[in-house]
Amino acid sequence: MTSEEPVLDSVVIGAGQAGLSASYHLRRRGIDHVVLDADAAPGGAWQHRWDSLTMQDVHGIAELPDADRLPVSGERANVAVPAYFTDYERAHGLPVLRPVRVDRVVSAGPTPLDAAGADLLRVQAGDRSWLTRTLVNATGTWTRPYVPSYPGMAEFAGEQLHTHDYPGAEHFRGRRTVVVGGGASAVQLLGEIALVTDTVWVTRRPPVWRTDDFTPEAGRAAVALVEERVRRGLPPASVVSVTGLALRPQERAAEALGAYDRLPMFDRIEPDGVRWDAREGAPGRFEPAQAIVWATGFRPAVAHLAPLRLRGAYGGIQLDRDGTTAVADPRVQLVGYGPSASTIGANRAGRFAARGVAAWLEQAARASA
Ligand code: FAD
Repeated sequence: MTSEEPVLDSVVIGAGQAGLSASYHLRRRGIDHVVLDADAAPGGAWQHRWDSLTMQDVHGIAELPDADRLPVSGERANVAVPAYFTDYERAHGLPVLRPVRVDRVVSAGPTPLDAAGADLLRVQAGDRSWLTRTLVNATGTWTRPYVPSYPGMAEFAGEQLHTHDYPGAEHFRGRRTVVVGGGASAVQLLGEIALVTDTVWVTRRPPVWRTDDFTPEAGRAAVALVEERVRRGLPPASVVSVTGLALRPQERAAEALGAYDRLPMFDRIEPDGVRWDAREGAPGRFEPAQAIVWATGFRPAVAHLAPLRLRGAYGGIQLDRDGTTAVADPRVQLVGYGPSASTIGANRAGRFAARGVAAWLEQAARASA
């Protein structure tokens, strides 16, 4: 490094809801930063959602800070949200650079430029890099679809795909389809696929159906549960996994066809279907299938942070009581992670992260005075 290399006060990685919120609040505080985003266009993960997900299907997208609400309409979410983010970035003049995929973040060591004597961070993307005092990680989960491992998977003669690659219901016409997973995505996809072909739904735990309206109190209670996990350094569970499921009008036709009569998780996959082991004298059940859809969720996309050794003994990245500061390295804020993995949580986390960054910078400045 040469002594002329500029040092930023912060680098935000990711320009989804969480990264944009963080950037907005950093800017309000006058904190010098850039936002590095791997996608070629604005929209975060929303630009990649399947075509049949409309603004009526989503569970409510919180408006970005200091912006209008998104309209509820039949418009595709993968069009409406990216357009909204595009306007937002422009209106607020946010310093987003793209496409920039960050490969790794490393401790750069103290440098002559860092008056406070604290270590700097180096954010690397191919042959480019940025030197920064603090980091806000906002990389979401979309790039890390999770598929569990089951015996016989490799021998299945049909097609297996994750919701990440859902091509629309028509793709499955005429092929008996097993949908795996107990979350909102499984419910939505069954609502579509069951109308064009025979389906089988399997989940590890019996689904918990919400009969009441989803109140703000229930939402807060669900988020608090995930917050507690992250505070203890456990891998975060998805917020949706603790909010319960609800059928919407667009899923009633599939319900009438029996699409939500759920079976427990199968034990193995065979070339032409899925099988349950024999239990208590009962013969093993077999359901023929030509397709399996894994609606089994996503994991946080944080591999590029590995050199910072943020993970604790319990496998998760432990966050402070504020819900965004990494306990193992308070220069690092995580937003859209664990309890803040919803649009409303991401907004709030962005604000807290900017506050955490400001606190670190002030403390570093005091130490150098
Ligand atoms: P993302 O939107 O995923 O943005 C992450 C950004 O980081 C991307 O732009 C990506 O390019 C970038 N990135 C990733 N890795 C790197 C890297 N290494 N270097 C540089 N950039 C990188 N929440 C709700 O509140 N309401 C809903 O109705 C709702 N519906 C959902 C429906 C589906 C199908 C799914 C999967 C999620 C849904 N959620 C919903 C959750 C919500 O979408 C997310 O919590 C929120 O949008 C995530 O925002 P984010 O900024 O954390 O991540």
